[in-house]
Order: sequence, then C-alpha cells, then structure tokens
Amino acid sequence: METAGAPKSPEYDPDCYLCPGNARAGGVRNPKYDSTFVFDNDFAALHPDAPLEREVRDGLLIAESEPGNCRVVCFSPRHDLTISNMASADLRKVVDVWVAQFEELGARPEINYVQIFENRGAMMGASNPHPHGQIWAGHSLPNEIAKEQASLAAWRAERGNCMLCDYEKLERTAGERIVEENGGFLAVVPYWAVWPFETMILAKRHVTGIDGLVELEREALADILKRMTARYDRLFQVSFPYTMGFHQRPTDGKAHDEWHLHLHFYPPLLRSAAVRKFMVGYEMLATPQRDITPEAAAERLRGV
Ligand SMILES: [Zn+2]
Ligand SMILES: [Zn+2]
Ligand SMILES: [Zn+2]
Repeated sequence: METAGAPKSPEYDPDCYLCPGNARAGGVRNPKYDSTFVFDNDFAALHPDAPLEREVRDGLLIAESEPGNCRVVCFSPRHDLTISNMASADLRKVVDVWVAQFEELGARPEINYVQIFENRGAMMGASNPHPHGQIWAGHSLPNEIAKEQASLAAWRAERGNCMLCDYEKLERTAGERIVEENGGFLAVVPYWAVWPFETMILAKRHVTGIDGLVELEREALADILKRMTARYDRLFQVSFPYTMGFHQRPTDGKAHDEWHLHLHFYPPLLRSAAVRKFMVGYEMLATPQRDITPEAAAERLRGV
C-alpha cells in the first residue's frame, strides 16, 4: 500500500497550535475546548476595520480594499481525527457551528459573502493535520461565486426554475454519476468535472443557504460528509487530500432565490496516493482535459 502522508498522528500534539490548551502565534492560548472551537485567524488576510477604498490607475490597474474576517474552526479537540473518522454526533456539532458563523458574519453590513471551506492534507497546502476548516467573510463577491451567480440568475430569468434543482433532478434520473445519497443530499461527480475525482454535493430541497437546513437535513449533511470522505480515504488507502467548501447565497440582504446550497470537493489525486493531477501546460494555457470520465469516476467511488 502506498502512503503519502506523515506517520499516524497522536491524539494530542504539544506542538500543535490548534490543540486544546496550547499556545498560538502571539502567545494567545487556546481554551481547553472539548468539542468545537472558533477563533479569528492570527494571520488573517482580511481585517474587519479596513476602510473601503478604490484606486484606479490609467484604467488598467484597479485596487480595492476588502474589509472582512478570517476565522479558523477546529472540528474536534482530537489532533488525530479527520471528518471521515469523527463520530456523526460530533460532526453534527460542526454543522451547527457553520450555520451559526454564516448567520453571525452574514448579518454584518460590510459582509456580502461568507466562504466556508476546508483544505485537507499537505498536498493541498494544509500545514497542520489537526481537523479544522476556515471561514473567509468579505465585502466583494469572489470570482467563482460571481460566475455561479450569473448562471443561476440567467437560468431563473429564462426558465423560472432553479438551475440546481433542475440539475439535481437530471442527475437522479440519469443515475450514472451518483456517488452517495441520503434523505437530505445527493453527491455526484458533476458532468463537467475537471479534477479526476471531483464531486458536488447538492441539497435535495431548494434551500439558498446552510441556514435554511432543518434538523434532519443538518444530520444528513454530517452523514454525507462522513460517508464521502470515508469513500475518498478507501479509494487509494490514504487519508485523502482535498479542498472542500460550500457555495450558497451572498449575504448582501437580498433574497437570492436563484441560489441553491451545494458543496464542491476538489481532490488532487489521479491514480494513487502519490500520483496527482497537474493542471499545467495545455490546461493552464488553454482548457482543462479530463483524465477519466465523470461516469467512470463515479463508478470507482461507488465501488469502494
Ligand atoms: Zn492538534
Ligand atoms: Zn434549487
Ligand atoms: Zn458551486
């Protein structure tokens, strides 16, 4: 079996800045938390008190300030866990924290989008194996969100439907790209997948944001996250690296009924624990190429 990670982590690491009771940068000490723990990133890229400024030079260079917040969410006090091997009840608490953070940050007048995400594994630049994610909340609409916003709004204007409700229906009928399903969510390798084992998790009911999930759906979200990450781990017998995150309505005060809550998983691995896909050459200069069809990737993931 190939391994592409460090040796197994201990339950507590005295040198980890995320473990309970340990010191972080600048000497702040974490509380001895026993569930989840949220704090403002010590090296935040966004600051809430940045003044709104815009500078344009010769119509070519545009710089805009970006007031916002960067937070870290520790999923568990245990240093050695991942989403795939956390207890469902504990993952459910993480879902509640995400909802509370979305509500709190989204309510701030200067915050128009709340991005919740997780980078997992050294291959994705996650320097610390302690199970944690991040939240970046900012003033302007990030590029990926702006692109989706335009597509979702155009579809609704043309057809009067939600594009992702229609897509969820199509995928459920086709069946061949489905990886996991439960009462609240459907996980598919999207038809347009670029990363070999890219997946998308769609809310089955039309909800514009994570705050719209009812109790059973929050449980279903924890359940499908655990099952999907465990499936990924089994694929190449390795603690699977990925970037994962939510896409949902902007928090600019408008209803945004065109939005439909979903998550993306972007894992870098292609053939084994050690062989990754590189987005280089033609893909960087022209357009991405698929190494494996979405139907074949879904079949592989269903089979493990
Ligand atoms: Zn730790
Ligand atoms: Zn919808
Ligand atoms: Zn999306």
